[in-house]
Amino acid sequence: MQKRHILARVTVVTLVRSVTQLCGVLALWPLAIQGQTVTADLIFRNGTVYTADDNHPRAQGIAVKAGRIVYVGSNDGLKSYTGAATRTIDLKGATVLPGLTDAHYHLAGVGEREMTLNLEGTTSLADFLAKVKARVATAERGTWVVGTGWIETFWKPQAFPTLGDLDAIAPSNPVFLVRADGHAAAVNSAALRIGGVDAKTPNPFGGEISKDPKTGQLTGMLLDGAIGLVAGKIPPRTPEQAAQAVVLGVQRSLGLGWTEIQDAGGSYQEVELFRRLYREGKIKLRIYKAMHGPGPDADRLIREGAHAPEFDERFTLRTIKVVLDGALGSRGAALLAPYSDAPNTSGFFTAKEAELRPMLQRALGAGIQVETHAIGDRANRTILDLYEEAFKAVAASERKVAEPRWRVEHAQIVNPADIPRFASLHVIPSMQASHAIGDLYFAPKRLGQERLKGAYAWQSFLKLGLPVAGGSDAPVERGEPMIEFYAAVTRKDLKGNSGEGWHPEERVTRAQALKMLTLWPAYAAFEEGRRGSIQTGKLADLTVLSADVMVIPDLDILKTRCLMTVVGGEIVYQAAP
Ligand SMILES: [Zn+2]
Repeated sequence: MQKRHILARVTVVTLVRSVTQLCGVLALWPLAIQGQTVTADLIFRNGTVYTADDNHPRAQGIAVKAGRIVYVGSNDGLKSYTGAATRTIDLKGATVLPGLTDAHYHLAGVGEREMTLNLEGTTSLADFLAKVKARVATAERGTWVVGTGWIETFWKPQAFPTLGDLDAIAPSNPVFLVRADGHAAAVNSAALRIGGVDAKTPNPFGGEISKDPKTGQLTGMLLDGAIGLVAGKIPPRTPEQAAQAVVLGVQRSLGLGWTEIQDAGGSYQEVELFRRLYREGKIKLRIYKAMHGPGPDADRLIREGAHAPEFDERFTLRTIKVVLDGALGSRGAALLAPYSDAPNTSGFFTAKEAELRPMLQRALGAGIQVETHAIGDRANRTILDLYEEAFKAVAASERKVAEPRWRVEHAQIVNPADIPRFASLHVIPSMQASHAIGDLYFAPKRLGQERLKGAYAWQSFLKLGLPVAGGSDAPVERGEPMIEFYAAVTRKDLKGNSGEGWHPEERVTRAQALKMLTLWPAYAAFEEGRRGSIQTGKLADLTVLSADVMVIPDLDILKTRCLMTVVGGEIVYQAAP
């Protein structure tokens, strides 16, 4: 009974909020109704516009004034908004979507990847070595050359780079190149010297210093626990380098068409860096930021409360990020039953329930959103239990924000019995389509066919009426919106293949995929009243694409490029013609 009572209250509050938000939008409508008197700053015409607004799903043109949308409709309708000072952009049929939003991103990590040599997409050892050599040529003598993203399984032939290969191209700079999965690093002799590693160094716990089985000589490959021997000697970033990494991460994100990223975890130190970069006008991307918890940063957020969006509503801080378990690949995801391919383990928790309980209650009272990383079915069940306990313990009248909109990040392997609980508890699943197409190569081994029924179950959540907030978890994945969109609608790998147990019925329609990357992440950030769809009164966040991703063949989605990114009516990225 208690539960029903609370749910009834939450529903009423939801309605009241929706009406309030609707009024907020409506208040801006007279502007558009008396359109003759409004002269737009910026007009987009001749577009193929998908609005993500169910009442008016398609349009040709958009008029923008003072950062907000004042008109959405036909080319003809744009005329009355055009004045002498209006800038008009002819889209020549290009596709316009509401500004894309990634609900789960690690901006600092993406920036870090940009700071170092990005070796993604190398096709052969020769290609790999050429890229490293080019970077060494621009590095000062003796300074570190750090790279990441290579993976030899895509090379022909498949072979690790050798110590001799790297010494030949980098005799005077230490070189440290991490394999895409983070489980191996290729290094040269200069790096090994700094790391104090020679042929006699014993293997550290959980790692291997790779040696030639015949000669006993070092090969230049460090595996898992041995990577730290060298990584620990690379000087940490200076504050200026950290700032540069953020700027580069933002530039990459805008260039791919993201208008907002929801940054899954961090500290106040990072918040201060973001604020400085906004103040200096160096970053334009919207960032919805979470603080790691439990811990001092989460405590401070609860104490100070959520901030109103800052810097023209570009920066919001109102969320705590909890990490409850590990990942599936390394068998850290907490499962209800042992791993199918390792019966001695069922994964582990990375946070203590006893610490989470009081934090959750305080967060709920203070109006702070909580988002929790939960991959395994045990982690998902436990966090739902903990959320439910908190919802019962803190009455709606004792909450600063009536509708908590708490989230589960990944919600990757969920026992089918727990899926409806997301709906009854109003918990938002925040899911990354690209994880499915990578993981489904090893998930059947880890989990067995039966447990895959509740794995990456996007459509099962959607059928319950839940919004699924889509994201990429970059830099764990590439962080490209077109890969996420493609993965969501196909549930196939990047070559168009799928396998047994991939559950094609869980893929989504293109209209759903569009909302997964626009309206639903906006909802998951309390922003659907002001962004997430192309509607009069909303912020003018737009992503312009080279092809109509709502109709083109599946594989062509991956060839689609971002032509233009608009944040708050400002063109923040434009592709070279
Ligand atoms: Zn993450």
